[in-house]
This record gives sequence, C-alpha cells and structure tokens, in this order.
Amino acid sequence: MTAVDKNFEAYVFSKRPGYVEKEVRKEFANLMPLRTIVIFCFDPRAMGIPDAVAREFGEVYPGEAIQDEHGNDVGTTTSLLNVVVAGGRAMDALRSITVGQHLLGIENIVVVHHTHCGATSYTADGIIDAFRHEHGVDISDLYPRESVCITDFESSLKYDTELIRNSDGTPKHVNIYGYVYDIDTGKLTKLIENLASHNPE
Ligand SMILES: [Zn+2]
Repeated sequence: MTAVDKNFEAYVFSKRPGYVEKEVRKEFANLMPLRTIVIFCFDPRAMGIPDAVAREFGEVYPGEAIQDEHGNDVGTTTSLLNVVVAGGRAMDALRSITVGQHLLGIENIVVVHHTHCGATSYTADGIIDAFRHEHGVDISDLYPRESVCITDFESSLKYDTELIRNSDGTPKHVNIYGYVYDIDTGKLTKLIENLASHNPE
C-alpha cells in the first residue's frame, strides 16, 4: 500500500459523519489544560525557553500524554504551548493565539526574545536589499518594518506585546508579558508586563 491509498480525509474532524462543530470544540477543550502560550525563536539554542517560562509561571511542561482505553494519545497534562518563530516575533504568532484561544483557552501570553539572536545580526534595510539583489523581489512592504529584525530588546518586546494586545484575535482577558532569555545562563528577565484590564461584566 502506498501512502496515497490511505484515506486521510477520515482524520479530518469536519468531514466525519454527524460532525457537530460545537461538540467537537468541547472535546478539544479537554485535550489539555492550556494556560500559557510562549512565543520564542527557532534558534536551537533557545529551546530551554519553554522550561524556563514553565518554572517562572508554575506551568506543567512538557507534561505527560493521557491515553484512552485503546492506548491512543487523547490528551496531555501540559499547560504550556510553544509558538516557535524567527526571533520570537509576535507578528508570526497572532493566528496561533486566536486558534489556541478558540480550541483550548489561554490566560497568559509570554513573548521571549533572546541574547545572541540572529534577528539582532541584520537590519531591516539589509534584508530588504539582500532579497532585492539575491532573489529579485521587493519585500519592503511585505512585513511591518518593526517586525523584521531586533534592534533593541526593550522596543522589540514593547512592539510585540502591544501588537498582540491590539489584535482583535487576542482575547481581552489575557495577561501579556515580554522577557529576555540569556542563552549563557538560562535566566529570564521580565521587561514588559501588560496585564488584562479588569472589565466589570
Ligand atoms: Zn533567535
């Protein structure tokens, strides 16, 4: 049997017979007790970040799989989800925040930028020029200029936490934090704390 013979459509929830979206959403909400999303860089040296954030916020990570009676993994005890993107920049994470809230619910969003990051090694002008010369395309309007690289951590974290706060896809009740992670020591330093406003309901 080749891979194409397999009916992958059977694994698409919305194509299953008797699919009821709201019921499936309720089932997904029980998959994991998500509380915190952490956004950080795809640099392999930054992989200690979720552990450090879990310690800082008292989250369960990486947690353990929960299995059903057939031995299928149907959930996890982890309360922390990773969004791994270049530089840990929030722009790439906005859609994941919306989906994470919709399926599982979120209380905290933690943006972490790190020392020795590749995103601090080039400028917005530099990457735009390089793409023009090496690939023959103009990417100057493709991304917000402030999201393209990191020129200093305070402004990159301020920009990212505000970008998340001002997105309609971010639930109003979440707390948003900005940290720098020191690759050499594994230490987190909090630069931004943007707590949810207490809206009377
Ligand atoms: Zn990095």
